[in-house]
Parts: sequence; C-alpha cells; structure tokens
Amino acid sequence: MENFSAILNGTAENVTVVTEPVPVEGAELTLPQHELTQEEMSKRILGYITEKQTYGQLKALIPSKLPEDEKDFTASCIEEVEYDARVYSLEGHTTRVIVPEEYAQKLDIVRQRRLGQLDLLPEDMVGYLNRVLPEDILAILDELPNRSYVREISLVDWLNPRDVWIRALRKSETFTSAASTTPDGQVLLYRFDISEFLRATIFHEWNHNLEAQFKAEVELPWDAAINMEWFVWVSNDYAKVSPGEHWAVFGEAILQKDGSLFAEVVNKLGPMRTMVWATALGKALDAVPVANRSCYHDIWVARVAYATKNAAGPATANAAVMLRRAQCLDAYLKTLSATTPAAVA
Ligand SMILES: [Zn+2]
Repeated sequence: MENFSAILNGTAENVTVVTEPVPVEGAELTLPQHELTQEEMSKRILGYITEKQTYGQLKALIPSKLPEDEKDFTASCIEEVEYDARVYSLEGHTTRVIVPEEYAQKLDIVRQRRLGQLDLLPEDMVGYLNRVLPEDILAILDELPNRSYVREISLVDWLNPRDVWIRALRKSETFTSAASTTPDGQVLLYRFDISEFLRATIFHEWNHNLEAQFKAEVELPWDAAINMEWFVWVSNDYAKVSPGEHWAVFGEAILQKDGSLFAEVVNKLGPMRTMVWATALGKALDAVPVANRSCYHDIWVARVAYATKNAAGPATANAAVMLRRAQCLDAYLKTLSATTPAAVA
C-alpha cells in the first residue's frame, strides 16, 4: 500500500507554501502620472509622408455559414484593400503611426478643435471629438518598457472586419474589437476614442509582442506556470481564452500603475507566472538603447529586480508542492492500473 500522505508531504525537504505577501518597500514601484498637454503632444508630430497601405476588409459577399477555421475565414471572407495613408513621424519614437488619408483629414479638424483653433466641429463629425489622434498615442509609447516592439499602429475609421468571425466563435452577438495586432507587431485601433482603455489596449498589444520576442524561451515554462497557477487568480477571465491571452492579461497586472497591487501579484497572486514574465521583461529592458528608454525605465528595472527577488521563493515552493501532488496522483493511478481487471470485450 502506497503512503500517499508521505509522498504529498515530502521527505527530502521541508516545503511550505508561502501565501503571505511581503510588504512593498515604499512607493517607488508606483508609476507617477505621465501627462502631456495637447500642445506638447502636437509639437512632437514631426510630419508625415504619404504611402499606399493595405488593410483587410470584409468582402461584399460572404458565405452565410462562416468557416470555423480562421485561415479558411480569411481566405473566403477577407480581401486586401489599398488606401492612400499618412505615415506620421513622432519625436522620440520609431513606431510608424499610420492613418488613411480620408480619416487623417477628419482628425486634422478634431486637432484644430482640441487646440482651440475651431469653435465647433462640423455637424457630420460630432461623434469624432474624442477620437484618438496620432499624438495621443505618443504619450503612451513614451511609457512602454521597449518601444521598438510596436512597429506600427494604424488608426482607422472602421470596425474590425474579423468581428463577424469572432462573434460566431464566441457565440456573442455584440462583441466588437477595440484593437488587433499581428505577430509582426502591426497594431490596429478601430474607431478608437480617448480613455484609460487606450493605455490598457496599447500595453496589452505590446505584451503580445513581448511574448513573440521571447516565445522560444518562455512558451513551455509559461504553459506550465499558468496550468499550475491560473486557479489562484486571474484579473480578467479573458486570460482563459489561450496561453497567449493569459500572457497579455497577466502583463497588464505586472505593468499596472499601482506599485502595491503589482507587489501583491508578485508575492501572492502569481509568483510562478511572475518569474517567467519578469524574465522576458528584464531582457526587453536590457535591449533598449539609452536614447529610447521609457519615461519609467528606472521603475521598470526596479520592478524586475523586486519581482525576481520576491517571487522566486513562493514560486519554487509552490512548484515543489505541485510536483509532489503530481507524483502522488501518478502513484495512485499506478495502483489502480495494477488492481483494475481488464475490461471485458
Ligand atoms: Zn490579446
């Protein structure tokens, strides 16, 4: 008879699950406000060039029953359409901010209104007052730990043509994408208004690009960490969609403004995931040239140091407990297979 309790409790080493958070060492991990005035932001637009740009659009005729596979959906329902577009240069950034010409002309009018150069928007543009301008993006790009991972961002005045497929997939009549990103770092923002959600969206998409950058290294440990830890805490159920979405959602907690909430994630809510995530973040920070550093660079570096110092203990202890549980289950299953009579054919 196996002693499952002895396996679970361990004999070689004394394992404890650390659940109490380590106190945050001051407010130095909290991000101060990074706010620029509309004038300051507008002055950092250095100009633009005009290029042809292609975007996927829904075909006029699509099958009444949508394909279930994304590649099949793309092949049968999406077509590439060419637009004249402006590619803006932003001071301090290499990210290409792209706006189709027709929309860019409307945003020029919105800019004039925001700078007080125009009393009212034209009647047919009333809904555009809060639309994101290229310079609104610039202030958020300043914050990113490694801005080179966002190669380009397009502002477009239409909805995501893939929404119909996502709605069918998720069985939701109302789902609407705010943004999307491609594996090579191309981000699209669809009819996007200014809100706190703009920062969250750009950071979320950046997180995907961070994972893509270090995928070969982090994919397996990340998969293990989320499988052992997802039930402890997720900030948002969207994390459960896939390991990649879990990465992006978890990163929002690592990069959030509040230092004490960040510390709670490190110490208590997700130490295993923190160890994997923070390793990638540390490498991303190491790779940034001094001139391109985030306005929060020193805090990001301090967070990586804090995370690796504080999460290592609980992460290792929790992993050891999980390993013992797996060994216990394995031993139990072996006793079952040894005693279970063969099925009758
Ligand atoms: Zn995502």
